[in-house]
Amino acid sequence: MAGIRIPKVVTSYIGGAWTSVDKQADVIPVINPACEEPVSTLQEASVAEVDAAVTAARETFDGGRWADTSIEDRKAVLLRIRDLICDNAEELAHLEVLNTGIPIQQVVARHVPRAAVNFEFFAEFISTADARSYDQDPNYHTYVRNEPAGTVSLIAPWNAPLALATMNLAGAIAFGNSCVLKPSEFTPLAFVPLMDLLKEAGVPDGVVNMVNGRGAECGAALVDHPEVDVVAFTGGTETGKEIGAAAGRGLKKVVTELGGKSANIIFADADFDRALDAALISIFSNNGQQCLAGSRILVQRSIGDRFREAFLARVAKLRVGDPMDEHTEIGPLISEAQLERISHFADLAANTEGLEVLQGGQRHNDTDSGYYFEPTVIAANNNSHPHCQEEIFGPFATILTFDDFDEAMAIANDSRFGLVSYVWSQNISRIMAAVKALRTGIVWANTPMTRELRAPFGGFKHSGVGRMGGEWSRSLFTEEKTVTIAARDFPLAKLGK
Ligand code: NAD
Repeated sequence: MAGIRIPKVVTSYIGGAWTSVDKQADVIPVINPACEEPVSTLQEASVAEVDAAVTAARETFDGGRWADTSIEDRKAVLLRIRDLICDNAEELAHLEVLNTGIPIQQVVARHVPRAAVNFEFFAEFISTADARSYDQDPNYHTYVRNEPAGTVSLIAPWNAPLALATMNLAGAIAFGNSCVLKPSEFTPLAFVPLMDLLKEAGVPDGVVNMVNGRGAECGAALVDHPEVDVVAFTGGTETGKEIGAAAGRGLKKVVTELGGKSANIIFADADFDRALDAALISIFSNNGQQCLAGSRILVQRSIGDRFREAFLARVAKLRVGDPMDEHTEIGPLISEAQLERISHFADLAANTEGLEVLQGGQRHNDTDSGYYFEPTVIAANNNSHPHCQEEIFGPFATILTFDDFDEAMAIANDSRFGLVSYVWSQNISRIMAAVKALRTGIVWANTPMTRELRAPFGGFKHSGVGRMGGEWSRSLFTEEKTVTIAARDFPLAKLGK
């Protein structure tokens, strides 16, 4: 694509400037998963560099240049960021596809607009957020101030880099904090222009800093740093446990948004065509690499055969290929390790009693290179197989059959995860009963994924601790200060008189 600048080396961004290239630093190739070739190099931030980034954030925060800015001024900056993201959408989308392999059509339609909306949402939110006050006792007036929490570590995953990282980045700065962002080491590219756009929009130097590198090295140093007050993490469940523990040791506020193994429950009285369309979206968009994926499709037995046939016919027509092609529906997986993981699950399915590979199950061979895997559908005779319990994270659907409502709920809830449930039925009583029975942080009824930014988003069980979105982001990114002022000169006890 003409005119798109691909950063040759991605360094850290500290105090409003890019750090220089250091020949001694550890480097990691940034791979284009569509061709397995390096497209850039990531220079890993050392512990000293992480320290410099946190120090810049701390000093900026303590200086008050951003934290003390009026809401109106902060709102204006956030709206300028939104505009600049929209103006630079083509470049951001191109870089995002280059290191994620997500089809460009999805990045253009959803990921980049979502990044812009994240800033717009928090711009509006801070300008309308209220402060609670209590005056039931006539002697006092008590009110609550939400003050910026301080310095924030933002740790982001690779599966929707811009869309997800900007949700926490926008929230952190909207409430007046300074932060250090660590994108996934697989997907740093779009953050390079983003840092420049933040500066252009008027974010003061030192408010947003960025370090790059592997989790156990650079990420852990960022979570452990004593000058970090808050940690916002989106990523895998095992990492989330480590980060939660590390944040706990440092008594830092933390929210973890983790993995899922979501049930997509289709009752016989569902609108069949809509449920079918949505089942495909829920498992195959984003190359199947999404925490919200409806990866366990639970179908009521009386429509089981009809659904299976219709679903497989559509899966057979999914367009797998170059993610830069706007007609592509499934691109490559993120990495060779992910390809091996999915191949392992496919091989296991082919060799396990009670599992049947209905479609796919192999590396996709139409392309010479790239981490492509065929869209895969298996049937499982019960929910205990690893394919029903583990987050596979790819274009890999497992179909299970149930007889009645109670069995559907039991299967859906038989999971260590609890992020999302999808329910399809035209019977409102059944929907309402399912909403109550399902042990997940989000229930989507008769719709595929729909993110409402005002509402809490997060998981039960091993899908995370805490919530983000509107009021819940404010809760993470601010400290609440309760102020009580005497409303009149009420009598005081006179000790020692
Ligand atoms: P990951 O846990 O491997 O990595 C996420 C981030 O954490 C990366 O930046 C990584 O470098 C960093 N990291 C890893 N170990 C660390 C450590 N010890 N200390 C500090 N940082 C560390 O996850 P991933 O593979 O990048 O992303 C995929 C996972 O994210 C899936 O499980 C998916 O379900 C989950 N996810 C959850 C949500 C949600 O909102 N619930 C959204 C997207 C992705």
